Amino acid sequence: MPATIFEKMSARARQAGAINLGQGFPDAPGPADILRAAADALLTRSSQYPPSGGLPELRAAVADHYARHQQLDLSAEEVIVTSGATEAIAATLLALIQPGDEVILFAPLYDAYLPLVERAGGVARVIRLAPPCWRITQEALEAAASSRTRLLLLNNPLNPSAAIMDREQLSLIARFCVERDLIAICDEVWEHVTFEGLAHTPLMGLPGMRGRTVKIGSAGKIFSLTGWKVGWMCAAAPIATLLGRAHQFLTFTTPPNLQWAVSEGLGKPHAWFSAVRADYQRSRDRLASGLRAAGYVVDPGTGTWFSTIDLAASGISLSDQAFCERIIGEAGVAAIPVSAFYPRDPITHLARLCFAKSDAVIDEAVARLARFR
Ligand code: GLN
Repeated sequence: MPATIFEKMSARARQAGAINLGQGFPDAPGPADILRAAADALLTRSSQYPPSGGLPELRAAVADHYARHQQLDLSAEEVIVTSGATEAIAATLLALIQPGDEVILFAPLYDAYLPLVERAGGVARVIRLAPPCWRITQEALEAAASSRTRLLLLNNPLNPSAAIMDREQLSLIARFCVERDLIAICDEVWEHVTFEGLAHTPLMGLPGMRGRTVKIGSAGKIFSLTGWKVGWMCAAAPIATLLGRAHQFLTFTTPPNLQWAVSEGLGKPHAWFSAVRADYQRSRDRLASGLRAAGYVVDPGTGTWFSTIDLAASGISLSDQAFCERIIGEAGVAAIPVSAFYPRDPITHLARLCFAKSDAVIDEAVARLARFR
């Protein structure tokens, strides 16, 4: 398996003492009440194995959260708690792929997807999406499909393009899955990180998708606690049973105190989630306006913690890889080349920057990148 670009760039950032806008993680400590709930649970509750599917309280809290925020009708038994969304993706692929099954993926793709599909015995059929629209077309779906296609794996909102799929795109995918009798694995870890009033639409809520979607979520992304590695996968009961079997042989369970704290956090009022979104939108705008003032052409994005610099449009003739190398060494800022999200035929003129940082860190990174121009 290849070394992940995120760990590679973070190691380079540490070595170079650079500001790390590469790997996506916030620099704030996280919500104090949720941290305290985890500390309290650690001291007052059991630290022995919780049930493999997750604490019943957390499974119920996830189901209730999606009923309130996305009008889904999940039962607690249809939620399996995992050690992060990446484990949920691995468990889903191990549970559902038979050797030789074809899986439709979309590039740019998160770097874990392809090795996991292939190690599970699947054959990847990658559809290449391109800026500025990153749109999926009926023709591309048809061309990627065969009689062996069983699954489709989708990330929405999409990291690193920071684009959110609209209902029309999702309907296209849903109709395709229904017609071909496919299961959709929808990695929706960025579901709460949407801007400009755009609401997330879960693929599972579209006609025909309730019984054929695995919806994957992440407390790390929802509560800005990326190191916690608490995630979940939701699916209709017959599929959830299979997912739970894969999960029991991967990690079996997830630290119980973190599960307690997340179950409390998920019950926060709508206003809390809106405030977090507004904060991230402010950080996004601060980075974008700073970079624009320094002469960079920027796509701020409408979801996720990432914006991209368009190198070509900014008059920079370096590839994204070369640019990211240069700015780590010369400017002291780490970013992620978007080409790392393409298994072949990459887009090479975009660099991804994480804006989930304090104002002071954003300003310093902008000042360094302004001097680099
Ligand atoms: N999701 C994070 C990102 O896109 C990386 C997570 C990881 O490094 N495992 O930057």
